[in-house]
Amino acid sequence: MSQYNLQTSIAYLKGVGPSRAELLKKELGIRTFGDLVNFFPNRYLDRTQFFKINQLQQNSAEIQVVGKITSIKTVSQKRGSRLVATFVDETGSMELVWFRGAKWIKDSLKVNVPYVIFGKTNYFNKAFSMPHPEMELLSDYKKSLTTAMQPIYPSTEMLTNKSVSNRVVQKMMQSLFEEVKGNFQETLSSEIISKQHLISKKEALFNIHFPKNQELLTKAQYRLKFEELFFIQLQLILKKMIRKSKIRGYSFEKIGDKFNTFYKNYLPFDLTNAQKRVLKEIRKDIGSNAQMNRLLQGDVGSGKTIVALLTMLIALDNGFQATIMAPTEILATQHYNSIKELLGEMNVNVQLLTGSVKTKARRLIHESLEDGSLHILIGTHALIEDKVKFKNLGIAIIDEQHRFGVEQRSKLWTKNELPPHILVMTATPIPRTLAMSVYGDLDISVIDELPPGRKQIATAHRYDSNRLSVFKFMKDEITKGRQVYVVYPLIQESEKMDYKDLMDGYESISREFPMPKYQISIVHGKMKAEDKEYEMNRFLKGETQIMVATTVIEVGVNIPNASVMVIESAERFGLSQLHQLRGRVGRGADQSYCILMTSHKLSADAKVRLETMVKTTDGFEVADVDLKLRGPGNIMGKQQSGVLNLKIADITKDSDILKLARELAFETLKKDPSLKTQENTNINRAYRGIHKKTGIWSNIS
Ligand code: ADP
Ligand code: MG
Repeated sequence: MSQYNLQTSIAYLKGVGPSRAELLKKELGIRTFGDLVNFFPNRYLDRTQFFKINQLQQNSAEIQVVGKITSIKTVSQKRGSRLVATFVDETGSMELVWFRGAKWIKDSLKVNVPYVIFGKTNYFNKAFSMPHPEMELLSDYKKSLTTAMQPIYPSTEMLTNKSVSNRVVQKMMQSLFEEVKGNFQETLSSEIISKQHLISKKEALFNIHFPKNQELLTKAQYRLKFEELFFIQLQLILKKMIRKSKIRGYSFEKIGDKFNTFYKNYLPFDLTNAQKRVLKEIRKDIGSNAQMNRLLQGDVGSGKTIVALLTMLIALDNGFQATIMAPTEILATQHYNSIKELLGEMNVNVQLLTGSVKTKARRLIHESLEDGSLHILIGTHALIEDKVKFKNLGIAIIDEQHRFGVEQRSKLWTKNELPPHILVMTATPIPRTLAMSVYGDLDISVIDELPPGRKQIATAHRYDSNRLSVFKFMKDEITKGRQVYVVYPLIQESEKMDYKDLMDGYESISREFPMPKYQISIVHGKMKAEDKEYEMNRFLKGETQIMVATTVIEVGVNIPNASVMVIESAERFGLSQLHQLRGRVGRGADQSYCILMTSHKLSADAKVRLETMVKTTDGFEVADVDLKLRGPGNIMGKQQSGVLNLKIADITKDSDILKLARELAFETLKKDPSLKTQENTNINRAYRGIHKKTGIWSNIS
C-alpha cells in the first residue's frame, strides 16, 4: 500500500506543490487525490490522426501536425518580445508563437528536425498560427505513444497562463495512478455490476484517463455515467422515502356527498383518461397516512382546474378546508369564477381573498375561515399572511410553481397540526429526464392529453417586412368578433429599449387600428398593478379588441374569445416562453393563430426555436428541444445546479442510462431500504462518502 490515499492533499503529488495546488483548487476545485481522479477529460483526441497544414480550418479544436521548424525570430512588441517560429510540412507553412518564456524556449527548439506539434490554431491575415503549442520530437513521440486516445481535460485561461497545460495534467494523472497503484474502491454491488455488464470502478477510472482503445473508453464512460446517476437517484428516492415515512398527513379515506353530487350532477363533461389517471394518483396519496407532495404537470388548456376542484371536494368530504393560491389577482379571480360556476347550486362556501379585498369583507373571510364555515379559499399571496388562519386546512393547491418559492409554500403548512397535502400545478412542461433528476423526490402526475375537440393552434413565422399582411389578418379576425394579443419582449438588461419598442409598436398599431372603430388595451411592467388589472379587465370583458403587452400576460389568463397571438421580436424569446404565450389563445371553440414576427437576422438557435414552434404544439416536445438548446442548468435555474452539476453524465443525452439508474436505485432500496446487507456494502460506503457533509441520512446505518 502506498502512503497516499484519495484524501491526501493534491499538494503532495509529484509535480504539484503548494502554488500549483492552490491554482488547481481555485480554478478547478481540485483539493485531493480523489478530486483529481474524478476530474474527467471532456473529450479525446485520436493521436493517430494528423493534419496537413493545407487542411487546417478556422475555429477547429486542438489538432496535431507533423513538420519542421525552418527559422526562428524574436519580434519586439510593446511589452517584452514574442518568439515566432516558421513551421512547415510538405503542404505549407504556419507560425508557432510564444508570448512568454521566449528566451528559454528559443534555446530548446531544434531547427530542421521533425516535431509533432499540438494545440489550437488561430487564423489571422490569411495565415494560420499556433500560440504556445505543445511540442514533442517525432522520435520521442513514437516511443511514448501508449494510447491512441489522448484525453483532453477541461481547462481555464488562468491554467493556460500558468503553464498548466493539458500535458501537465496528464502527467499529474500519471503520477497519481503510480502512487495509488490502482487502489480504488468499488462503489457498486457485484449484482449490479454483473447484471449490467459493467466494468469495475478500477478499470473504469484507469480507462477514462488512459484509454487503451475506443471500446474500453466507451465502457469506462458508461460505467461512470451510470454510477453518477445511480447515486443521485439513490439520494432522491431515499429523500422521498424519508418524507413519506416521517411526514405524516391527514388521510382522506372517504369519498362523500360533495364529490359524488358534483360528479353526478355538475361535471359538465367527461374527464379525459389522463384526468382520470391523475385523479387516481392523487386519491391514492391523500388516502394514505403520508403527506402528499405532488407536482401536477399539464399543458395549458389540459384541464387542471377540474382536477384541483375534485381533489378539494374530497378534502371537504372528509371535513377539511381547501385552498388554491395563484400568482396574480387576475388568475385568482379566474379560478374563483370558474369554480363558482362549476359548483353551481352546490352547498359549498367559496371565497376570494386578494390584496384588493376590503377590510370588512376580509374580516368576514378570516372569521368564517376560523370557524370552519368557509370551505374553499382562493387567493393570491394575501392568503399566506399570518392573519389568515384556517380551522383545518386539508389541502393547498398552488398554481404555477415558478412564481412561488419553497419558503412561501411551506408557510402554508404551519397553520395546522399536520401539514396539509400539497399539489403544485404547472403548465410549464418539464422534460421527463429533467424531472427525474430534479424532482425525483417529488411525486409527479402528468395530464398528457387535451380535452377532445380542441383545434390545433395554427402557428406561422412572418418577417417584419410582411407586417401589412399581418395587420390585414388581424383586422379580418377582429371583424369576425375575435380579439388579438400583440406581445413585445421585456428583457431586464435592455428595459429602456424594450419600452421604446413597445411604445413604437403601440403607436403604429394605433395608427393602423384607429379609434373609435378599434379599442386598444396596453399593459406593461412600468404600470401600477391596479392600472394593469383595469386594462386586463377591459380586454377580458371584450371592451377592447387588441391587447398590446409585454410578457406580463404570460401566466394563465383565460380569454376564450382571443384567437390571435402576435409575438413581436419572437427571436428574442425562449422556447418555453413562446409556448406559454401561444397557450393564451386556442381556449375557445374557434380556430386560433399564433404569428411569430422576426427580423431577417436570426441566429441558428433562434431558427430552431421558430421551426419548433411552427412544427408542434406539444408542450413536451417543445420542452425537449428547449432542454437540448439551453442545457439543464439554464432551465431549472441555479438552485438546482447541485443536482444538475454532473461530472460526466449528460441528462439530455444519457436519458437511457438515467432511466436504468433510477430503476436499479429503486430496486436496491426496495430490497434493502437502509443499505445494510452484505451485498450493498460498497453502495453504502460510497453513498455515505458522497453525503457525509449533509449528515441528514442518518437512517442509513
Ligand atoms: P389548464 O390546465 O390550462 O388550467 P383549464 O383547467 O383552465 O386548463 O381547462 C381549460 C378548458 O378546458 C376549460 O374551459 C375547461 O372547462 C375545459 N375542460 C377541462 N377538462 C375538460 C374535459 N375533460 N372535456 C372537455 N373540456 C374540458
Ligand atoms: Mg389553469
